[in-house]
Amino acid sequence: MPKRACYAQDYTGLKILHTLYDSCLKAEIDFLDDHYLLNLIVDEGCIKGAIFLDSHTGEIIQINAKAVVLATGGYGGIYHGYTTNSYGSTGDGIAVVLRAGGAVSDLEFVQFHPTALKRSSILMSESARGEGGYLVNSEGERFIDELKPRDEVARAIFRQEQEGKEVFLDVRHLGEEKLMHLLPQEVALCKLHEHIDPAKALIPIKPVAHYSMGGIEVNSSLEVQGIQGCFAVGECANAKVHGANRLGGNSLLEITSLGRFAGDHAHQYTRSASNKEANSTQRDKDQKAIEAIYAQACTLNFYEKQQALGKLMYEKVGIQRENTQLLQAMEEVRAMQEMKEQMGIADKSPIHNQNLIEYLEFSSALLLAPMIISSALARNESRGAHYKIGFEKQDDKHFAKHHIIQWKREI
Ligand SMILES: Cc1cc2nc3c(=O)[nH]c(=O)nc-3n(C[C@H](O)[C@H](O)[C@H](O)COP(=O)(O)OP(=O)(O)OC[C@H]3O[C@@H](n4cnc5c(N)ncnc54)[C@H](O)[C@@H]3O)c2cc1C
Repeated sequence: MPKRACYAQDYTGLKILHTLYDSCLKAEIDFLDDHYLLNLIVDEGCIKGAIFLDSHTGEIIQINAKAVVLATGGYGGIYHGYTTNSYGSTGDGIAVVLRAGGAVSDLEFVQFHPTALKRSSILMSESARGEGGYLVNSEGERFIDELKPRDEVARAIFRQEQEGKEVFLDVRHLGEEKLMHLLPQEVALCKLHEHIDPAKALIPIKPVAHYSMGGIEVNSSLEVQGIQGCFAVGECANAKVHGANRLGGNSLLEITSLGRFAGDHAHQYTRSASNKEANSTQRDKDQKAIEAIYAQACTLNFYEKQQALGKLMYEKVGIQRENTQLLQAMEEVRAMQEMKEQMGIADKSPIHNQNLIEYLEFSSALLLAPMIISSALARNESRGAHYKIGFEKQDDKHFAKHHIIQWKREI
């Protein structure tokens, strides 16, 4: 099979990041580190800027802008404990767009990667199977063609687990020299996080949430539906380039190509955008909201609920869905939303408050989880990464369509 992607060993993303960072330094681009996006400023459907929490100072900052490009990543982190994503990937940008009156779409499409380390959920790259690694169960049997699409392999592993069998990635036959040449990062991760040497031992794995195909609804210029002058790109956006099931390698392709495209369109937009500046209404609102979080009593630990939400989403809104379980999940998430008033932050320090940031991230997760569930409930078919028991076939007649969610503006 010809290779269809470019690699820098198994460090491709890191190399892209270094190159991009060097280019930004050369172009003297300013970075505002540790500025957490709270909300967008929108006036009569047009973007006017954004509000941030500067966690170095604890101040709420308003930045006025004629155009905004969101690149805040996906929502795999909602599957807390069962995701390759950073725990901060809770779909903040998607939640922000919803609150500002914009549209989001296709949230039911969450891709599960077949091979993450069992204990830590750290990704074991596709290249391990691409280079000839096997999947075996605790009885030593291979049970699936390892090169099948991610959803099929993930489901096959899930079924083995349901039968009470453990699943392992086996790369021992590739030999130490080849492993160190082709998969140095994977070898290092196994040693560090699982305390095993893949040249000598089986690697215990599980399938976990990896990529969000759904996201902010954008048009062909990557402008957000419902908010003029606001653009979105990368995993936070649903640019419809990945369909219902992204192919490995295509996300980096998307962000490196469409990133520039979004920038060009945002720049073009600024030329005709109105010069009318935003007032401080949104800033004042966000200031009050943050003060209310500090004042809120903390009788329930939100970190426990975050873990419970991750487990619930994995078990009931995961690799295999079923309508009764989706309805149960919806009830449980609604109950968590009601409990939110009892969850506050234990750390009241005004600066560098990670507890506050994580609370805000959990709030995004709790806002988006019911939308993932309702989108999954509404799709009574199986398509790409969305697989539903009782509706195992793709149904183009009824479901060859996108699910778009947009809140009505308050009048
Ligand atoms: C382990 C792993 C391996 C992968 N390997 C590959 C691969 O080999 N090939 C491939 O094509 N794809 C791969 N992917 C997918 C790909 O890496 C991601 O889809 C891609 O990095 C998304 O880029 P992004 O810029 O859209 O978002 P991200 O890289 O997630 O960046 C989003 C940024 O926004 C910031 N942010 C979020 N919310 C806020 C907020 N409220 N305020 C301020 N900042 C915020 C985050 O801190 C983060 O820095 C992999 C993903 C993972 C998790």
